[in-house]
Amino acid sequence: MDQTKSKALFTKACDVIPGGVNSPVRAFKSVGGTPPFISHAKGAHIFDVDGNKYVDFIGSWGPMILGHANDEVLGEIARVMEKGTSFGAPTELEITMAEAIIERVPAVDVVRLVNSGTEATMSAIRLARGVTKRDKCIKFNGCYHGHGDSFLIAAGSGATTLGIPNSPGVTKATAQDTLLANFNDIESVKEVFEKYPEDIACVIVEPIAGNMGCIPPQDNFLQDLRTLCSKYNALLIFDEVMTGFRVARGGANELYGVDPDLLCFGKVIGGGLPIGAYGGKRDLMNHVAPAGPVYQAGTLSGNPVAVTAGLETLKRLTPEVYETLEEIGGYMQSKLHDIITKNGYPLSQTRVGSMVCLFFTPNEVRNFADVQKCDLEKFNLFFHEMLKQGVYLAPSQFEAGFLGICHTKEIIDEVAEKAQKALSVVFS
Ligand code: PMP
Repeated sequence: MDQTKSKALFTKACDVIPGGVNSPVRAFKSVGGTPPFISHAKGAHIFDVDGNKYVDFIGSWGPMILGHANDEVLGEIARVMEKGTSFGAPTELEITMAEAIIERVPAVDVVRLVNSGTEATMSAIRLARGVTKRDKCIKFNGCYHGHGDSFLIAAGSGATTLGIPNSPGVTKATAQDTLLANFNDIESVKEVFEKYPEDIACVIVEPIAGNMGCIPPQDNFLQDLRTLCSKYNALLIFDEVMTGFRVARGGANELYGVDPDLLCFGKVIGGGLPIGAYGGKRDLMNHVAPAGPVYQAGTLSGNPVAVTAGLETLKRLTPEVYETLEEIGGYMQSKLHDIITKNGYPLSQTRVGSMVCLFFTPNEVRNFADVQKCDLEKFNLFFHEMLKQGVYLAPSQFEAGFLGICHTKEIIDEVAEKAQKALSVVFS
């Protein structure tokens, strides 16, 4: 694999951008090597500046559910841009987007658009604190909710990959207000509530954890969270930045039948452009300025180009498309299952719809402690063996893989063959 141009660009980038990248996980820090610099992408494939072609399982970390550079979405973006790219004043498109979200997610009566998932979670937790007049929040070890100070405590994703779960710059006072519990372990949540029965504003959770690999909620974990939050008058926040409009038309809350008080979105609703959103029950959301006193704002919020890309993406995510995504995910899982069982490899898999993960441990993975037992050296080797063969996986064991409608059975067959080859090197 020729990497001449990527290597030169990475050297140059490291001079002018911290670590050469604008988001840490892109730097290949934990797997080593040089990240390919991307020139363009189409459908299920991305291409780098050296002319290498990869099957892409990152999908821009979630948004590209329709595949890259969908012609119809691009056409609509071009059309709307002719009218101007930002006004800093209300547009009808924003109502259409709010209605599209509300129609799909019954727990949302009112929704505010922001510019990223991070903004959505930061705003939701401020709202929860403002409404309940309490300071503390519960988050789960290994869950990632963006880089807001309150969430950079035992966070997953890049924070775990880089081994800086508690970032310098987060004050002690902030860290003290973030209480930790374990995913899929309701007893650990009960203990925290019993210790601080009057102080907890909210519990924030990725309903399907996607930032420590992919870990589905088990038993009645989400339902039990709902019950506990109601009992202690704390708000339940589902961070559906990753799962929203991906794992089901209405997201994970629909899939598991749980009604959170507030929800956060991003990724898919921007169709590859910067966007985020938070929403929930009317009486809560009406505390947000200017309807209420909890302040939150944004120069580019509700940007017409991002909103159009998102709306055009949502429009194409019909019930049939979700069935196709489930089929594609199931097919991928069964192919990997065959390889694992035939060879007796010490691996385990998880999947919810089009979110997939291969863990380098033979044991079931239910929480962050389980993921940390994975053989990271073997994962890294596997990652590079796949990359060499033109398969671009997330460069960390602590990330999920994303499928989209362009991952055809033919592509998955080809990837499965390559995975078999890579695994035989890893376990040779
Ligand atoms: N929440 C979750 C569940 C996420 O996966 C992410 C991003 N991976 C975020 C929040 C932050 O979103 P953004 O990167 O758009 O700020």
